[in-house]
Amino acid sequence: MKPDQSLIRTIADFPKPGIQFKDITPLLKDPKAVEHCVAAMLPDPSVEVDMVVGIESRGFIMGPLLAQSLGCGFVPIRKKGKLPAQTLQESYDLEYGSATIEIHRDAIAPGDRVMLHDDVLATGGTAAAAVKLIEALGGKVVCCSFIIELTQLHGRALIDAYPIKWAYQF
Ligand code: AMP
Repeated sequence: MKPDQSLIRTIADFPKPGIQFKDITPLLKDPKAVEHCVAAMLPDPSVEVDMVVGIESRGFIMGPLLAQSLGCGFVPIRKKGKLPAQTLQESYDLEYGSATIEIHRDAIAPGDRVMLHDDVLATGGTAAAAVKLIEALGGKVVCCSFIIELTQLHGRALIDAYPIKWAYQF
């Protein structure tokens, strides 16, 4: 199935002036399109995955679907102060503002093969920070997947050591 770009709605100046926000909510209402999206984001069949790590908050929508498809578990990376057990932290800049993200210290075991997932790859700062957390715990990133890649922001340059899967490019 050809991806239907009209299912991604662009909202100008949200949440700040100058940002062209990619709204995935129309896509989520279309089960066939969601199925296509998940299939497009799966790693190559030769790649084994022990865990999908999704980034708060829109990485929590397709992340568990990807994990179910792969028959593996899902681990959340959350914004600072949300995870209850012991965490590792990483701070970074994003397209609008800055942020600190956290992962549970016991979420990834050394040697775990991890697929990282988020909704949008923009400048790449969020994904790069997530990769740092995964690798600090001894995980091996085998693939990064995004619903949308904003190619003009060149975010993939920050994660070019890993295969990247995407369902929509703008
Ligand atoms: P970045 O770190 O710049 O790659 O930004 C990626 C993160 O910010 C993702 O978690 C996205 O949810 C969010 N994000 C950044 N830019 C956009 C955008 N234009 N539309 C929707 N979400 C965005």
